[in-house]
Amino acid sequence: MHELLSSATADHYAATMRETVDRLADRFRETRRPFSGASREELGALVDAVDLDGPGRGTAEALREVDALFVRNAVWFHHPDYAAHLNCPVAVPAVAAEAVVAAVNASLDTYDQSTAGTLMERRLVAWTAERIGFTAGDGIFTSGGTQSNLQALLIARDHALAASGATLDRLVVLATGSSHFSVQKSARLLGLGEDAVLGVATDGHGRMRPEVLAAALDAARTAGRVPMCVVATAGTTDRGCIDPLGPIADACDAAGVWLHVDAAYGCGLLVSPTRRHLLDGIERARSVTVDFHKSFFQPVSSSALVVRHARDLAPVAWYADYLNPEGSGEPNQVDKSLQTTRRFDALKLWVTLRALGADRLGDMFDAVVDLAAATHDLVEQDPDLRLVGRSQLSTVLFRYQPPGVPDARADALVPLVRRALFDSGRTIVAKTVVDGRPCLKLTLLNPDSTVEDVLRVLGAVRDAAAALDAGRDLATGLDRELDAVLDGDLDGALAW
Ligand SMILES: *Cc1c(COP(=O)(O)O)cnc(C)c1O
Repeated sequence: MHELLSSATADHYAATMRETVDRLADRFRETRRPFSGASREELGALVDAVDLDGPGRGTAEALREVDALFVRNAVWFHHPDYAAHLNCPVAVPAVAAEAVVAAVNASLDTYDQSTAGTLMERRLVAWTAERIGFTAGDGIFTSGGTQSNLQALLIARDHALAASGATLDRLVVLATGSSHFSVQKSARLLGLGEDAVLGVATDGHGRMRPEVLAAALDAARTAGRVPMCVVATAGTTDRGCIDPLGPIADACDAAGVWLHVDAAYGCGLLVSPTRRHLLDGIERARSVTVDFHKSFFQPVSSSALVVRHARDLAPVAWYADYLNPEGSGEPNQVDKSLQTTRRFDALKLWVTLRALGADRLGDMFDAVVDLAAATHDLVEQDPDLRLVGRSQLSTVLFRYQPPGVPDARADALVPLVRRALFDSGRTIVAKTVVDGRPCLKLTLLNPDSTVEDVLRVLGAVRDAAAALDAGRDLATGLDRELDAVLDGDLDGALAW
């Protein structure tokens, strides 16, 4: 019997899934830290030792091996001591839906490979468009915000080329230094000039200044350039701030320029019962990026590009006789996508909405925004820590800098602290650079985390920073101390 999923292997499939899920559930029950702390050398040796050319060892054994190799050393985004990047804990109904996605293996490129799946994705796109405020919108699920932004800039580029008759090298995109790097990367992929992305000045929170935008649009035109698109960010990756969408839309309307809103992070506000107003003006965009795998508690990947006018997706259509002949009258999603074969990633969101309801998802996103606000206060009140600006969403930017510690010293500690904590496997925070200075970053996306959890994370940062500042050998000392505490060996901890 081949190991292919079919009517003949249904029992084997069910047993394999059950065993795999049971083992994973045990991991979730037993996981005490966000990461095992295994070193890159250890993991490299484990991975390299696997013989990929050898005979098959059977499904059960292969999965056991993965548990030891990968799952045991995974980074757990659900753990309250994980507070680094824009990764959310995932909703159980969405994880169950992933099993359906993989087993049925529909491909959403054409209707004849997906049937109801295509119609469900279309419903969800329409639902998202309505939440944005588009009355005749359309869109497509993508692999992530990077791909959504690329497709948005692609259609904006083609629109600008058709409308202006300009050559590629004259096109410019206006964004800010806080925009996601995929804007610059897309500009390069789309063949725009190296100087095509113009930075618009920001306020003290990294938000685009609309009056500067208006002047920049004028100046670009005067210089013979053609503004093809303004990218506003609704939830900047580091600062979690939202560009003033209404005034930016005014400037874009006045200049007749495409407005793209990158709401990869802030899209959770679309379902927020209390903060939807933070996205006011988003309905005036021509295109919007949403990442359900960031603020809708979906497993990677689940993202969409949504456009105000359905016709705007037309430039990506390509017709092939064997797949989607023109005029077939079938709802073929490939006509709107950069991908051909494509996962039914929309199903996860579908099941989550049906299981929890949109309001509850919004409550969950609200909870992390509230937690971040409380954390800003905690950091501000802590004499050893310095808050680096307030976020409108759920990031916390700060530095360890007790009175008397000079800036250069505080800056130098940032990467060391992050690294020492990561290596310990006990606390995972991020680092970035804001206004030219390094700082630590928490991205809070766990609605079950509490202020106590955040205090523990901040405490770990303070302890690690103080130890590093005092020149103690963290790699051995801190780890030993933490392990001793974990094991309940307080005497051992105090001895160190
Ligand atoms: C994360 C992010 C992206 C990129 O999304 P991916 O899903 O990682 O490709 C784009 N824009 C913003 C503002 C983001 O935070």
